[in-house]
Amino acid sequence: MLTTNPFDDDKLREECGVFGVSGAEGAAALVALGLHALQHRGQEAAGISSFDGTEFHSYRAMGHVAGNFDRDEIIRGLAGEVACGHVRYSTTGETALRNVQPLFADLSSGGFAVAHNGNISNALRLKRDLVRRGSIFQSTSDTEVIIHLVATSSYRSLLDRFIDALKQVEGAYSLIVMTPEGMIACRDPLGIRPLVMGKLGDAVIFASETVALDVVGAEFVRAVDPGELVIVQGTETRSIRPFASVAPRPCIFEYVYFSRPDSIADDRSVYSVRKAIGAQLAIEHPVEADLVIPVPDSGTPAAIGYAQQSGIPFELGIIRSHYVGRTFIQPGDKVRHLGVKLKHNANRGLIEGKRVVLIDDSIVRGTTSLKIVQMMREAGAAEVHMRIASPPTRHSCFYGVDTPERAKLLAAKLDLGGMTDFIHADSLGFVSIDGLYKALGEAERAAIRPGYCDACFTGDYPTSLTDQDELAPVEQFSMLEERVG
Ligand code: AMP
Repeated sequence: MLTTNPFDDDKLREECGVFGVSGAEGAAALVALGLHALQHRGQEAAGISSFDGTEFHSYRAMGHVAGNFDRDEIIRGLAGEVACGHVRYSTTGETALRNVQPLFADLSSGGFAVAHNGNISNALRLKRDLVRRGSIFQSTSDTEVIIHLVATSSYRSLLDRFIDALKQVEGAYSLIVMTPEGMIACRDPLGIRPLVMGKLGDAVIFASETVALDVVGAEFVRAVDPGELVIVQGTETRSIRPFASVAPRPCIFEYVYFSRPDSIADDRSVYSVRKAIGAQLAIEHPVEADLVIPVPDSGTPAAIGYAQQSGIPFELGIIRSHYVGRTFIQPGDKVRHLGVKLKHNANRGLIEGKRVVLIDDSIVRGTTSLKIVQMMREAGAAEVHMRIASPPTRHSCFYGVDTPERAKLLAAKLDLGGMTDFIHADSLGFVSIDGLYKALGEAERAAIRPGYCDACFTGDYPTSLTDQDELAPVEQFSMLEERVG
């Protein structure tokens, strides 16, 4: 049943990817391709909006990009040379479609479509004030707050209204906005979530990651700067920087797990960074073993780095089914457990009697590690040593990466010994926070602080967390309903 209550108990979290095109014939088809390359950032719903010079068009659906946007009639219906799209993770449910982005509203200035990657950490507070003043919310997404702030701003021009809105929100946002005047792409002042700009002929492209530029054959131009608004009219761009400048804090977890390894982030190959983290892990946590085995696919680059540094042979000791989504991106604990089993299988012949080093990128709840260690033992491994290519995840992310509440994070509950026992490993080692910075080519954390948002590891949140601080947990669950990632 579709409920119209904006405060219904629809406690969702998500991770997202955005893609935009301005100035290309059949822009929506390019957006569909771009979103396909960003599918790893969110697998439960996708949407595209386009503008044909007169009218906005929109198609939003649950499910993958392929299966929805590979249909001719859908793409034909999304006419125009300007289009933007969004992929997201959220739990499924009857109420979910209204939250699928891009969100669209008819404002006094005309149509306004917005695609958001990130999370607004004072969305509840803003929403509460807006509702008190008469705003009627159509979705339960934090992104809609931006639309209402634009709609109710006392400034005259749309751009001023938009800036006025952004100045009131805190948290992380990479946004692509479409209006009848053109497209605006922007990043929050700390640049927490990524956003890059590319060129395809004269057309201007924006994407969460460079892989999405690659897929449409676009050339990488540069990253959108933290705090920058790039305003595009047709194929012309100009930039404004309306915020006081602050030291950027891009998300370090993009390097650890979230971005695709073939993306380039801040001039660094994500793949090379992951390999360097693996090498650092081998230096910090060496072990005598026969094989280095990645937990596919997220642990693979780090395992190559670990193997090269340690001289222990790299082998594919776990084979992954490619027909199952990311373990973590499965709503509900039961399904998530099943997902791990469905997804991975031991390569028995290889494992029997061997001392293995398993490499994964992170431990969140511990579900994956527990299953994989057990799988290695069942396949006859003599010893199982787990090595993790990130520091212990001890804090929840409020900036758009899906992490469970703190109480469910294994490293928030247990010390190293407790975690080792929990996953039944012979030993467990995490790369240090300084080791992670080193792998990024930086000095140790203390020397360059604050260089990244690493709050999931350190608890050092770079913005206020108004909603977390102000509201009792019960209220957060019933009001927030959805965080956009
Ligand atoms: P868990 O099984 O809960 O310990 O989760 C760890 C596994 O989930 C690792 O294999 C990671 O590759 C993956 N993972 C970590 N963080 C995320 C995230 N935010 N979204 C999706 N998957 C994740």
